[in-house]
Amino acid sequence: MDAKERMKLEPVPMRERDVSERVAGFEEVNRGYSEQEARAEAERCLQCKKAPCREGCPVDVDIPGFICLVCEGRYAEAGLKIKESNAFPAICGRVCPQERQCQATCVLSKQGKPINIGYLERFVGDYLIEYPPEQVGSTAPTGKKVAVVGSGPAGLAAAGDLAKAGHQVTVFEALHEPGGVLIYGIPEFRLPNLTVGHEIQALLEMGVQVRTNTIIGRTLTVPELLGVIGFKAVFLALGAGAPIFLGIEGENLPGVFSANEFLTRVNLMRAFRDDYDTPVQRGRNVVVIGGGNVAMDSCRSALRLGADSVTLLYRRTRAEMPARIEEVRHAEEEGVDFQLLVAPTRFLGRDGRLAAVECLRMELGEPDESGRRRPVPLEGSEFTVEIDQAIVAVGARVNPSARLVMPGMSQDERGHIIVDPETLMTSVEGVFAGGDVIGGEETVIEALSHGRRAARAIDEYLNS
Ligand SMILES: Cc1cc2nc3c(=O)[nH]c(=O)nc-3n(C[C@H](O)[C@H](O)[C@H](O)COP(=O)(O)OP(=O)(O)OC[C@H]3O[C@@H](n4cnc5c(N)ncnc54)[C@H](O)[C@@H]3O)c2cc1C
Repeated sequence: MDAKERMKLEPVPMRERDVSERVAGFEEVNRGYSEQEARAEAERCLQCKKAPCREGCPVDVDIPGFICLVCEGRYAEAGLKIKESNAFPAICGRVCPQERQCQATCVLSKQGKPINIGYLERFVGDYLIEYPPEQVGSTAPTGKKVAVVGSGPAGLAAAGDLAKAGHQVTVFEALHEPGGVLIYGIPEFRLPNLTVGHEIQALLEMGVQVRTNTIIGRTLTVPELLGVIGFKAVFLALGAGAPIFLGIEGENLPGVFSANEFLTRVNLMRAFRDDYDTPVQRGRNVVVIGGGNVAMDSCRSALRLGADSVTLLYRRTRAEMPARIEEVRHAEEEGVDFQLLVAPTRFLGRDGRLAAVECLRMELGEPDESGRRRPVPLEGSEFTVEIDQAIVAVGARVNPSARLVMPGMSQDERGHIIVDPETLMTSVEGVFAGGDVIGGEETVIEALSHGRRAARAIDEYLNS
């Protein structure tokens, strides 16, 4: 088939659960491509020589290369091709904001029909989970011990590459399960814990040790790890898990949650299941404040917990929403009421509990420092919505306890650990950092890319 014929082919849609079935539980919404669907989608790829899609990928996956292998039905090889740059295709295929990355730069996006690169990545990632390839060869052990603090995507990616280089890696995780936001933040209807578990299992099989329930800075300190315990280097991948609040009246009323607490109770602590005893408030009339993935996940989780109404309050318009387009579409289909250009001004209580939220309408003014147009309040536009639960999803920051992890380490005014941009080494010799704890895009793929860069730098440091 020549390029002209390929360009006439229509994109293959992702099969999804029906809305009524979706909101009744936490099962994954997207069903994945069948082999036939994957090959039909892969057929559309023009195999561009310059491959602009690669430029859109933060870890430079050989996208035309893996798609070509899918076309030929060589799925395991396609998966291994992705794994040359990205250890977690089944995860990234599900959660990367492809519409702003590889798919945005695909030449077919000019016609509004970019290749569904994320769906294809997910297909081959799932294929590798179902048919794991045999491990080929292993590097001779170096006898050097490296500690990774935090088991989110940054920590896991670093651990995998360091183990491949022959180092003895231990991952320390504060929570009782490894995975970071992949496990405690992103709900199962988007990213099943089983999928994350498979990717972690592959690391364990490479010899990586994971010590959960261990808070570095409290249970053990970095100086202890580098001293008596004998680690030669440490990678800090602590994430940015402390919620930001709105700072408005009534925010301490029972019924107002941070998205972080709400989602952790539901996802990690399984509060949605009757056989788990973690309590979570099941709101009847819920508002969620924010416009990112965290806000969408909160809205959709609240619906699945049985809310009669879920309203999203976002102070800008849909065009400025940072959430993945698919999550916005799914949230709308499932019945979330989007109140755009609206900001809450105070929470109101009755009998000591949350009863309503007062809001103001906004219009967009001049762009602010983020480049997005600033929301400006419309005077006299106040209105009140009766609610019994509010979930605040307006961002997160580095946990202030990060300073206990390594006393004296340089951090900026927002708490981000300051690193050398090349090596990701912190102000402390032998201590490196990456992922959300150093700031940046704060996406899964960027955390992975930091983890891989840090692993290379640590390997060089240990061999110098
Ligand atoms: C609800 C939600 C939805 C998201 N959706 C998407 C999405 O769709 N696509 C996308 O690309 N990104 C998404 N993100 C952002 C993405 O998940 C993060 O950018 C990414 O997980 C950051 O990875 P990390 O490894 O730096 O940190 P994390 O994933 O936050 O992991 C850090 C880990 O370190 C542990 N830790 C912290 N301090 C210590 C300590 N002192 N000792 C031991 N362990 C410690 C924490 O318990 C945690 O497990 C989402 C985030 C949230 C919260």
